[in-house]
Amino acid sequence: MQILAINCGSSSLKFAIVDTTEGRHLLGGLEELGGSNHARALDAVLARVEAERGSLAAIGHRVVHGGEAFRASVRIDARVLKNIEALCDLAPLHNPANLLAIRRLRTAFPELPQVAVFDTAFHQSLPPHAYLYALPRSLHRDHGIRRYGFHGTSHRYVAEEATGRFDLCPENGRIVTAHLGNGCSTAAVLGGRCVDTSMGFSPLEGLVMGTRSGDVDPGLHHFLGRRLQLDPDAISDLLNRKSGLLGLSELSGDMRELERAETEGHEGAALAIEIFCYRLAGQIARHLVALGGLDALILTGGIGENSSRVRGRVMEWLAPLGFELDAEKNARHGSDSGGRISCGGPPLAAVISTDEERLIASETAAVLIN
Ligand code: ADP
Repeated sequence: MQILAINCGSSSLKFAIVDTTEGRHLLGGLEELGGSNHARALDAVLARVEAERGSLAAIGHRVVHGGEAFRASVRIDARVLKNIEALCDLAPLHNPANLLAIRRLRTAFPELPQVAVFDTAFHQSLPPHAYLYALPRSLHRDHGIRRYGFHGTSHRYVAEEATGRFDLCPENGRIVTAHLGNGCSTAAVLGGRCVDTSMGFSPLEGLVMGTRSGDVDPGLHHFLGRRLQLDPDAISDLLNRKSGLLGLSELSGDMRELERAETEGHEGAALAIEIFCYRLAGQIARHLVALGGLDALILTGGIGENSSRVRGRVMEWLAPLGFELDAEKNARHGSDSGGRISCGGPPLAAVISTDEERLIASETAAVLIN
């Protein structure tokens, strides 16, 4: 079955045509979104896939927020569209872009069924002790305030891949996955089910990211408001766009650039990378409570797949958990060892390239067949 997978993010639009029988990409690409030019990027994608119209069976969309309404992928109809629209309040940067893509493709391909694959769905298996904040319960009941988690498609893909590749127990395997791109998050996966994750109500919670702060003292909001006279929008902008690696280094939110600068002796770059690695290692260790132990740590995303420096430093912090880095394998990104970058173990550590489009396509096919 040939599926068009659409992964419409806040800064880029990725697409692929995937043959789900062979699990192979037939065509794919990425459109950068300068400003908020989703419509133009969608038109460029439509032009590129037009020639394949006759062979497509369906379209699958990554949708960022499925709230508590969606625990699994679903075929898109009027009711589902309305639900995704209602969730725009929880994901104002993402869901509107996803809706635009769904509507645009429905107009262009009215004959094709469309399926929504939610970023939050994989985390809907979190138990209440992991998803509730210590806030008045009514905030959850009346306003949906809880931890949702994101990057679910990527976490699920690499966890499934790791289970097969490293012969982990499908029922009890204990895996931590770390998706490290511009946004960063971890997931604790027990027997294929997610039991905890680092992102929360929004993709701001948890790890240090490119330009996002991750965890800060919630008391900071009040202080910033009083001391700097920042309104809520300005505080949100500070935490989402001016913090993280960018804020710490006072140079860049891009890990590759920071590594170059650190090598040249830039103090801010070195500090930013150190804090990034320390916080990541701490979050991974914290997931041991949820899992009761650890069989495998899987690193993915632009930083996870390419930065031997970050992986090496995180593994140093994690030595007390029994991790032992194989420096040569790490330098080669595990490319000739099936992804493995540790010796001994368990626990093992490995690099697995994420492939969200492939999972979007296989989910879409599964929804249509069932
Ligand atoms: P997105 O979350 O937008 O999909 P990616 O997964 O592509 O982003 O990750 C982007 C991050 O990966 C950037 O910080 C980039 O610098 C980093 N990265 C990419 N290649 C390398 C590399 N060779 N070494 C270090 N960092 C890298």
